Amino acid sequence: MSNDKAPSPHRGTFTTTVPGVARIGANRELKRAVEAYWAGRTDAANLKQVADSIARDSWNQMVRNGFDSVPVNTFSYYDHMLDAAVMLGALPPRVASIADPLDRYFAAARGNDTVAPLEMTKWFDTNYHYLVPEIGPETSFALDASIVLGAVADAQALGIPARPVIVGPITFLALSKTVGADAEAVSISPLARIDELLPLYVDLLAQLAAAGVEWVQLDEPTLVTDQAEGLADLAERVYRALSESTDRPKLLVQTYFGDARDRLAALGRTGIDGVGVDLIAGSADSIRDAQLTGKHVVAGVVDGRNIWRTDLHAALETLRELRPHVGSLAVSTSCSTLHVPYTLRGESQIDDALYGWLAFAEEKFAEVGALSRALLHGEADQEPQFTASRTALLSRTTDPRLHVPAVRERLTGLSSSDWTRADAAVRREAQDAALPLPILPTTTIGSYPQTVEIRRARSALKNGTIDAATYRARMEQEIAQVIALQEKVGLDVLVHGEPERNDMVQYFAEQLDGFAATANGWVQSYGSRCVRPPILFGDVARPTPMTVGWTTYAQSLTNRPVKGMLTGPVTIIAWSFVRDDQPLAVTANQVALAIRDETVDLERAGVPIIQVDEPALRELLPLRTADRVAYLDWAVRAFRLSTAGVEDTTAVHTHLCYSEFGDVIGAIAALDADVTSIEAARSHMEVLDDLNDAGFAAQVGPGVYDIHSPRIPSIDEITTSLREALGAVSANRLWVNPDCGLKTRRTDEVVVALKRMVAAAVAARAEVAAPVA
Ligand code: GLN
Ligand code: ZN
Repeated sequence: MSNDKAPSPHRGTFTTTVPGVARIGANRELKRAVEAYWAGRTDAANLKQVADSIARDSWNQMVRNGFDSVPVNTFSYYDHMLDAAVMLGALPPRVASIADPLDRYFAAARGNDTVAPLEMTKWFDTNYHYLVPEIGPETSFALDASIVLGAVADAQALGIPARPVIVGPITFLALSKTVGADAEAVSISPLARIDELLPLYVDLLAQLAAAGVEWVQLDEPTLVTDQAEGLADLAERVYRALSESTDRPKLLVQTYFGDARDRLAALGRTGIDGVGVDLIAGSADSIRDAQLTGKHVVAGVVDGRNIWRTDLHAALETLRELRPHVGSLAVSTSCSTLHVPYTLRGESQIDDALYGWLAFAEEKFAEVGALSRALLHGEADQEPQFTASRTALLSRTTDPRLHVPAVRERLTGLSSSDWTRADAAVRREAQDAALPLPILPTTTIGSYPQTVEIRRARSALKNGTIDAATYRARMEQEIAQVIALQEKVGLDVLVHGEPERNDMVQYFAEQLDGFAATANGWVQSYGSRCVRPPILFGDVARPTPMTVGWTTYAQSLTNRPVKGMLTGPVTIIAWSFVRDDQPLAVTANQVALAIRDETVDLERAGVPIIQVDEPALRELLPLRTADRVAYLDWAVRAFRLSTAGVEDTTAVHTHLCYSEFGDVIGAIAALDADVTSIEAARSHMEVLDDLNDAGFAAQVGPGVYDIHSPRIPSIDEITTSLREALGAVSANRLWVNPDCGLKTRRTDEVVVALKRMVAAAVAARAEVAAPVA
């Protein structure tokens, strides 16, 4: 573990680091360990051993790459916001009586028989989900720094130049929610309690100083958002106060996921020692404008969120230009590498060219190290990393798969008629004539339970123990069962059940040109849950139909209409690593055309209804309000491009879930789908009022029960949901469906729940026909 290549930093500063690292383990060791602990198969001591070795491995890896400041305390058993809540004494009272700290922690994260877990939501615009701390009248903040101090001590014992990383007070409160007895109390932002937190942070800083910590990092990504008014003033006030405490390490305030602009200048006016900036999502101009000549600036010039190899020459240029505008400079990634896989090593199935274009976390560490050395010694051309970067860049710009003439010509030939269908009323009439349905038609969102048989068949195909024909036969058997189930419970519009889909994005990525898959490219989604996003590297096209066979097979088994199921372009992009060499809008249109080809083929094969799911529509919404119009514009256009190729008689459905829709409600109307199914069971149909206010006049299927819970709803509950829905939209616009796909449920639960849903719909039809006076 030689450190002799590390440049000697400016006195008291450092040159080479990252804001944080992943913690699930290179081979998902943490996932296995926590799941074993939850199942009672291991004890806390074992779990801690796994945790310690994950943290130690990443520290050593960073030191090997010449890091002279190593982020510690970035490990978490479940989530770093939950860790911050523990540190600040802000766990909800309902878990307080659980004596064991680890069990209390996991109860807050996952709930148990008697307590509900904290709510989970998206971490800024990433695919990571954090637990939302609850701040209520009972919350009385109190510092417990033991976990941070423990991490620091462990690192110091190994000679690691440890820089503890802690969620900053502004971000902690801005991402929490207020709970309380009455609506008025709840409407107050948790940020109102910032002054209660400051003494705790002062105390924390003092304890870290006493432990011999030289630099501490407080993460404040909220400073790149428009999440609250007056963030610049607040940042200035908070960090003036914290920097004035004399007994403290040097203080680095780390921003990421955007450009902190005026908040950066505000931080510059305080006595903090350093700021971390994201130069991938933000720009160097802000640093110049902010007058940071007295500060240590940690410059995130290597993309921490995407998987492409850095243009090191360009990054070095950026760093050199910055140097005169800052006090001292360190090289870093734009954000924690939590959001990218661990390492490219072992990805032997990726072709040589693509492999050369990629950098996962380990490779990014090497890039940061090389940039840092080149900045200090000015010998970029002797760094093998720089040569590799140049070669990769050249190969990437000249690879024919990134510039497929047929795809490009199709895109430039598009005109507005390609994303416009006939008037909605005209379509409605044509669809009603082509396919008469009862009033309040019943349907489901697409997936049915992923049974043991399905999973077994999938892994047998992968291991080569069954051939493609056998696999197909097994899937058809599943489809037949799901069709029979739906006929038995009496649904009006059926689906094939999606047994062949491991994942709603991966399934399509595997069949489209321009995508690649990784063998071990896991990233944490939440807790122990990981995803393996496909890589969208080239021009996208659809060589052959992807879903037509399954859908027509399902249709051949029933006289009732079967709905075809596709994933929309925005969701495919949101859940993949996407090429960064052209605007997202262009990539989205390419994906849209591939999906459009599929809709046209489905229609030709006689499928009367096609659903194009866009659960991630809200996810990609930019953090800054000013950027939102442009995003929604291309997102809506891409969806419309993917769906506007069919005849008026074909009904286009879409499905949205996983979020509050307030910010995108206008865009939902603009999608111009014939039917929109939308998650509403938990928000009590409020979404319908919002849709009405936005002028939405199409058919809608607000989810009448929550599929995320194993609890089976009663007929009465569903009836109440339906009555609420009928209060907001007329009966001839209303569909009846659950609020999402059923793949995570068990078949026996699904049968009972759907029978009740159909019974409630039948009763509601009678009520609508003969309204009670
Ligand atoms: N059609 C998909 C399913 O039913 C939709 C999933 C989703 O909305 N996330 O599983
Ligand atoms: Zn859904």
